[in-house]
Amino acid sequence: MTQTESKVSTTVDFSVDGKHYGHLSIPHSRNDSGWGALHLPIVSIRNGDGPTLVLTGGNHGDEYEGPIALMKLARSLDAQEINGQVIVIPALNYPAVLAGQRVSPIDGVNMNRAFPGSRDGSVSSMIAHFVHQKILPLADAVLDIHSGGKTMMFSPFACYHRLVDTDLMEKAKQAVLAFAAPVSLELVELDAEGMLDTAVEDLGKIFISCELGGGGTTTTGTVSIAEVGARNLLAHFNIINEQPQSLEDRGLSPTRLMHMPDANCYVISNDAGIYEALIDLNSPVKAGDAVGQVHFPEKPELPPAVYRVERSGVLVGRAHKALVESGDFLALIAAEI
Ligand code: ZN
Repeated sequence: MTQTESKVSTTVDFSVDGKHYGHLSIPHSRNDSGWGALHLPIVSIRNGDGPTLVLTGGNHGDEYEGPIALMKLARSLDAQEINGQVIVIPALNYPAVLAGQRVSPIDGVNMNRAFPGSRDGSVSSMIAHFVHQKILPLADAVLDIHSGGKTMMFSPFACYHRLVDTDLMEKAKQAVLAFAAPVSLELVELDAEGMLDTAVEDLGKIFISCELGGGGTTTTGTVSIAEVGARNLLAHFNIINEQPQSLEDRGLSPTRLMHMPDANCYVISNDAGIYEALIDLNSPVKAGDAVGQVHFPEKPELPPAVYRVERSGVLVGRAHKALVESGDFLALIAAEI
């Protein structure tokens, strides 16, 4: 008989009302702990049978707005003040968060390519499998908070995907507008297979994500967008009895609706060298404009390779690291809708 039940156990009973801090226990036998397990923190806050929102951060271990905002949110919520359930996983790739790395130091796996996971897989794969089997079925909607990590920098945006299911896409778009980031982007992924995003959408549930900054750190602004955005989603889904706080309520400019008409929105390096960005985030660009250039430190006599955009729009993402290789992401252009 094939075993399908997860090998991961949890100290939290998600069907019980109240606020419960606990952990997932993932078997992890290793040199320094023969019968050891990895304890991954999780919080359930529940009050009756209402809508359920799952909130995740630290899907990539060097992106910090999610862990910070979600730990603060979990501490601030009282079970009595909510209707339904909030499940918070502040550090989905917990070993990666503890190591300050994008991917897990245990198995080298990118959590956002590990879904739907496998019960017999590596630690990351077992985490993904448990989340897919036990957590996502409880959810009406999932917010996964990202930023650029150590290698990328984004103009803060919340995003939904262009979906064949237009009804589900519209629900995700409305949730993104409620999140209220400076940019609301209809995103096309470079490589959607294995993502938490795709796993949630394949279950017919609402998925909201964001890219809030980067460089392996946070700013007061990016943390605030995550904190207000997560709370706005609780309000949007009627889990807390509040109105979402719009950007205008906070004295800011309204969100800019943008999309990515095709794969030409990504600028990818064909060279190895030192990347010099020639324009800053949020700058408008026209097709043919140079966004950056790669210099060749071994050959000072060579001019740099200039990278031009193939479409007009706004620069919303760029390489944060300066040393690039062929195949590395350099820039992301989005177009105003
Ligand atoms: Zn990420």
